[in-house]
Amino acid sequence: MKPQGIERYAPLVGEERVVEIVRAARPLLGLRVLHISSTFHGGGVAGMLRTLIPLMCDVGLDADWSLLYGTPELFGITKSLHNALQGEGIQLSEEDFELYLNINAFFARHTPLFHDVVVVHDPQPLPMIRYVKKGKPWVWRCHIDLSGPDEGVWERLKPFALRYDAGVISSEAFRKPDLPLPTYVIPPAIDPFSDLNRELSQEAIDRKLAEYGLSSDKPLILQVSRFDKWKDPLGVLEVFRRVRKEVDAQLVLLGNMAADDPEGPQIFKEVSARAEGLPDVHLITATDELLVNALQRAASVVLQLSLREGFGLTVSEALWKGTPVVATNVGGIPLQILDGKTGFLVSPRDYDKAAERVVQILRDPDLGKELGEAGRNHVRENFLITRLLRDWLNLLVELCDRPWLSDLR
Ligand code: UDP
Repeated sequence: MKPQGIERYAPLVGEERVVEIVRAARPLLGLRVLHISSTFHGGGVAGMLRTLIPLMCDVGLDADWSLLYGTPELFGITKSLHNALQGEGIQLSEEDFELYLNINAFFARHTPLFHDVVVVHDPQPLPMIRYVKKGKPWVWRCHIDLSGPDEGVWERLKPFALRYDAGVISSEAFRKPDLPLPTYVIPPAIDPFSDLNRELSQEAIDRKLAEYGLSSDKPLILQVSRFDKWKDPLGVLEVFRRVRKEVDAQLVLLGNMAADDPEGPQIFKEVSARAEGLPDVHLITATDELLVNALQRAASVVLQLSLREGFGLTVSEALWKGTPVVATNVGGIPLQILDGKTGFLVSPRDYDKAAERVVQILRDPDLGKELGEAGRNHVRENFLITRLLRDWLNLLVELCDRPWLSDLR
């Protein structure tokens, strides 16, 4: 039987890293950690927790996961808050804000909270802390780029953030001078053994593509993202239009619908209308992680043209497969793409430049291979789940003053 726990990662990251993780977990054995987020499926946060939590348990912590089970109405409101934190001006009524707080209060009352540390992910469950009798440290893990929020909304949310013992953000660029909370930078990471990323044979890739009526008879350009305006799917069509004038190629836009993102169907409609009459464009909304994996492997170029981005796990996923990426220099993307070394960076909405870079890679496969290989090494060093686990263990040791800890430090 193949090893399934932390030792499984040794061939990829080295035995020393595994031993370091086991050692870092020692002072935390039995520590009860609760993660709270708003969806089990869809989006990067859920995907990451699905691996991080079992690994925390595997190295001896007692980690668990609870959901802020919201109604569609709540997620309409929290998506507006999310948009506002990413810089969009929004009008939120008093009633909406009240509903958001009431659901958090209800959830706080009915969730068993006996844990040693509580980690709250993103703005949906942020106010919960206001409604509990807090006995242990709470951490706010914000996955969003908070650097230029709508000030009105931020002023309403900040008082909740101030009650936390620590904040965690994805990039130094997101640090907020007006949030005097001890704030740690922990970039996200991918799991090389998940269905999204595990090795696939060429036959498995071809079979998966065929299942969706796709083939790799033409160079394939791909963006994998929820249908969300911040991911600029209309911009992807613009780039494809320009590329097609130079090189015969096909485009796949793949995006499933996340339970906590109610804007998806509307955006999908807009993209479908704009794509009408454009040949060789495939729009797919299936939830199928093996399809994401197969497409990221089959693609000649992966795009990630986000206007705002927390981190953009899809970038690391593509690079891990050795596929070259052209992406915008926003949020956490520049951590992953070192321009000209592990891919190409362009400015948001600079569709001419993005198309130029795509054509350059399509015409020079050796360049694409070189960028992809450098990208894979960069991800191996920085964005695999083992590094994420290690960062969390270090933070938890800092936060949890357990009596025997000082002897082990
Ligand atoms: N994803 C997926 N199917 C899709 C679209 C996205 O499984 O149709 C996955 C994608 O591979 C990645 C995550 O969802 O692991 C999205 O994370 P990212 O950080 O790129 O964006 P977010 O949705 O969190 O803004």
